[in-house]
Amino acid sequence: MLKVHNFSAGPCILPNEVFHKSAESILNFNKSGLSLIEISHRSKDFVEVMDEARNLVKEILSVPETHDVLFLQGGASLGFLMSAYNLMGSNKTGGYLVTGSWAKKAAKEASFMGNSIVVGSSEDKNFSYIPKGYEIGDNMDYFHVTSNNTIFGTQIKDFYNGDVPLACDMSSDIFSRKIDVKNFDLIYAGAQKNMGPAGTTLYIFNKDILGKSTVPIPTMLDLKTHSEKDSMFNTPPVFAVYASMLTLKWLQSNGGLNHIEKQNQLKAELLYNQIDNSSLFSGTANREDRSIMNVTFSLENENLNETFNNMLAHANINGLVGHRSVGGYRASMYNALPIESVQVLVDVMKELEIKKG
Ligand code: PMP
Repeated sequence: MLKVHNFSAGPCILPNEVFHKSAESILNFNKSGLSLIEISHRSKDFVEVMDEARNLVKEILSVPETHDVLFLQGGASLGFLMSAYNLMGSNKTGGYLVTGSWAKKAAKEASFMGNSIVVGSSEDKNFSYIPKGYEIGDNMDYFHVTSNNTIFGTQIKDFYNGDVPLACDMSSDIFSRKIDVKNFDLIYAGAQKNMGPAGTTLYIFNKDILGKSTVPIPTMLDLKTHSEKDSMFNTPPVFAVYASMLTLKWLQSNGGLNHIEKQNQLKAELLYNQIDNSSLFSGTANREDRSIMNVTFSLENENLNETFNNMLAHANINGLVGHRSVGGYRASMYNALPIESVQVLVDVMKELEIKKG
């Protein structure tokens, strides 16, 4: 099969063994003669999958007893709304750090049931940095951040650690590095980066928040509904949960977060070094806020884009085109992307340097 180096921003590369095992499950799940997608989600076999997926999240992230883990639907975009619904307190106010277009969308959802205060924003410089030195007031029921800005290539390195409950959209860097889950009252993440295929959304939250919201929450958007039913209130997205479980198993059996964090750092260093030592390319994000998952960069001379694009195609490099709001290039280097693929990209950049530098 053609070896493609997949730098797609999401949905994205997953481990090869996950593709194989999940394909097999469609035809013959657990050697039952039945497909995973034709059996009851209440069958023993599927309940075991859901339990295992939730347990793997707990083990890999060292989730404390205080927190629950659910696999729901709706994508992170529904998480924008659900986080606001479930965390609104007596002030009916959420504080938002607006570090990108997803963060901005999250802030908007809160305004449907309360006040949404922007405590800091980097929109003035097209979200190329993470604002610092902002103030979180005690008039806020929670503070919402986006850990990694998929489009702009910035990432929060140090999380707020004060008294106001912290909510975080971790869609594009969950499972890429160690985090201290107990500092977060709510984490949510669409599966389709480091966890699995699109279709399920992970929620990790302090059980203390359940039932405390001051706004009436529709049944399906209330985390309490799903927590009480162990993530099985209604039919879960069985395939997405199964493939996520396989990806988490792969991560755990390959050294967990300790190992993957080191790998991700090596991959990021390799590419950022090439960008920084090049006379043709420049990075888009503020250096100290650079993401290890999504590397955004551009060619200073746009006339070279076509040559570079042809060289990328020739090297079977896929998904490197930057988001339309940033332009240039974006290399998404999620957990399953091997360092060899980054080396192939770096070699192409070096070749361009020799030709045109
Ligand atoms: N937040 C972030 C950080 C994202 O990268 C994305 C999508 N890539 C979203 C939210 C929206 O996710 P979804 O498509 O699952 O709603």
